[in-house]
Amino acid sequence: MVIRNLIIVVLSCSLLFLGIQPGCAQKWKENKVLIIGIDGCRPDALLAANTPNLDALWKNGAYSFQARTDVISISGPCWTAMLTGVWQLKHKVISNDYRQPDLKNYPHFFHRIREEKPDLLTYSLANWGPIHKILQEGDATYYASAGNDARVTKQVAAILEKEEVDVMFVQLDEVDGAGHSHDYSVDSEKYLKAIEKIDREVGIMVQALAQRPKLEKENWLILVSSDHGGSDYGHGKNIPEHTTVFYIASGESVIKGEIEGEVGVVDVAVSALHHLGIPAKDSWYLDGRVSGLKLF
Ligand SMILES: [Zn+2]
Repeated sequence: MVIRNLIIVVLSCSLLFLGIQPGCAQKWKENKVLIIGIDGCRPDALLAANTPNLDALWKNGAYSFQARTDVISISGPCWTAMLTGVWQLKHKVISNDYRQPDLKNYPHFFHRIREEKPDLLTYSLANWGPIHKILQEGDATYYASAGNDARVTKQVAAILEKEEVDVMFVQLDEVDGAGHSHDYSVDSEKYLKAIEKIDREVGIMVQALAQRPKLEKENWLILVSSDHGGSDYGHGKNIPEHTTVFYIASGESVIKGEIEGEVGVVDVAVSALHHLGIPAKDSWYLDGRVSGLKLF
């Protein structure tokens, strides 16, 4: 019996080498990544709000509600940390002016993709336009700043439903606006309502992804996180209310459950690259690590 099983295993492996699929479907899928960034969304408020779409992602995925963002807890440095995989001491973006980022040594992860796997199609769609200031010529197949979350979602859904795409980054901004206007607090009804609206946008994107014509041949990793938290109508300080964010990873390749150890927004780029078959090189000096994913 043992010998027979051994023969089956050897035969299966041989078939794999011959390019014939013996039932290990996930090995034959194209790995793809969708990153959804929700600006200024505190993890405790996310848990307090009624968010069935985001709940479905983290409850069936890997997650941390104690993830860390940059000590300069404003959008410029924090989104750059998420998209480069390094903290502001390295990427040098310390404000929303994006003065002199060190793109040569710490580029957007799309740039790494272009260098390592130039055939992959990269999309970046944001409500908040400055996020694209760290993109270099040719890094993105497509990028657009729509200035309105619903419009961004509509564009994302249209692309996901029918376009060839390997990696997509999406930024939604209106939760942060609600925090500035109505306080970043679980007690702020309008802040929670804004999170619930964004949950519906996330639902539209996930549904669009489910409509993809070749979905059975694709292995999507969905990462959702935020650039920073907030309190008292603002953010920017190095305090837990501002620097604690959530990190959600959903898909076939995740290790379900709460992620042990430290998680940071810098893990988003590194985890996305890992899923795309681009392991981080030592020479890149990235600060992030692969979080919530199987390491093979
Ligand atoms: Zn803000």
